[in-house]
Amino acid sequence: MKPTNPVFTGVKTTIFERMSRLAMEHAAINLGQGFPDVDGPKDIRQSAADALMAGPNQYPPMLGVPELRQAVAAANKRFYGLEVDWQREVMITSGATEALADAIFALIEPGDEVILIEPLYDCYLPLVQRAGGVPVRVRVTPPDWKLNVKALEAAFTENTKAVLINNPMNPCAKVFTEAELGEIARLSRTNDCYAICDEVYEHLTFDGHRHLPLMTFDGMRERCVRIGSAGKTFSLTGWKVGYITASPNLLEPIAKAHQFVTFTTPPNLQKAVALGLAKEDSYYHGLAGDLRVKRDFLSNELAQLGFAVLPCDGTYFVTVDVTPLGLNGTDEEICLRMVEEAGVAAVPLSAFYVSDAPTNCIRFCFCKKDSVLKEATDRLAAWLKGLGLSG
Ligand code: PMP
Ligand code: GLN
Repeated sequence: MKPTNPVFTGVKTTIFERMSRLAMEHAAINLGQGFPDVDGPKDIRQSAADALMAGPNQYPPMLGVPELRQAVAAANKRFYGLEVDWQREVMITSGATEALADAIFALIEPGDEVILIEPLYDCYLPLVQRAGGVPVRVRVTPPDWKLNVKALEAAFTENTKAVLINNPMNPCAKVFTEAELGEIARLSRTNDCYAICDEVYEHLTFDGHRHLPLMTFDGMRERCVRIGSAGKTFSLTGWKVGYITASPNLLEPIAKAHQFVTFTTPPNLQKAVALGLAKEDSYYHGLAGDLRVKRDFLSNELAQLGFAVLPCDGTYFVTVDVTPLGLNGTDEEICLRMVEEAGVAAVPLSAFYVSDAPTNCIRFCFCKKDSVLKEATDRLAAWLKGLGLSG
């Protein structure tokens, strides 16, 4: 039979799904895939339940229900001072993943180069490749994950169509600085490029690190596709409600991609997310504040066990370097042993690299109940002790 498309054929199932399956198989605590173990606000969930029963449950408008598009525009103004026309500049998608696919399919032509910053979130590469784009990678490296502006500058060519950034950045928990974003904006302008901005962790930043959308930078209002996700903002990752903000000239073709990918997103979930976006400031501060406490707890415990804990300024994740412990094997091998022998699932950082991956770092997810984080670190302590590596 003729071959199926090589971008997807023979590709491994994502590391998140694999680790979650292994966690279930071994009754392990799952600090791998990024999802909270407590569902988001009750009023949002109740509103979704009410809207489901009240109906209608038929196709909502393709761009999204007006309440949610208005709420996304209002949130852009409230959090970032962005003036957004909800009718022409906002579209609702089935998760940020769909938003990324729509944006990439709409903006990229075969042969266009797309700059990706590595370590990179898993769907970026296949989506760019499936669009016929040519990925060009620029790496940020631990421990500070600083953007090397010279390397970024060198990555631009006359064929560059877009740069794709994830800010705050999964997996390395980096929040891009104003200076770094200023350089990305400058290079996007001088090279006449678009910027696809995956900002799903926009509200999950800590210690005074503030999320700045690239869209707010000089000359970037018309060049950026800004993507958010209710999954992260309201601890409802299974809902898969995403939102795009982009100027009409970009949103128009992106909406055309959307109409052939999912066309719409469940209307009751959209209405409930509109309620969420209008929540008072205390909700947003509370979300980041609670996560910061969890980050501190897990980071301190892991440091005490002997891991070298890397800085974490945002997201759900903390990364550790395993080198000081003297564990044998690659990050992937260590994660496989850890889930089986220690009963704790994590994610090897090498999964976020295309090639020449570092193999000494592991990502732990900390958006879990305090008791779960404690049990996980107790299990790790016992495991390491058994191996004669600590305690
Ligand atoms: N981008 C990044 C960086 C992510 O970590 C995730 C996963 N949560 C997504 C996009 C996908 O978001 P969604 O679940 O809304 O599709
Ligand atoms: N974004 C989540 C993570 O990084 C995973 C989402 C997924 O499994 N597709 O863990």
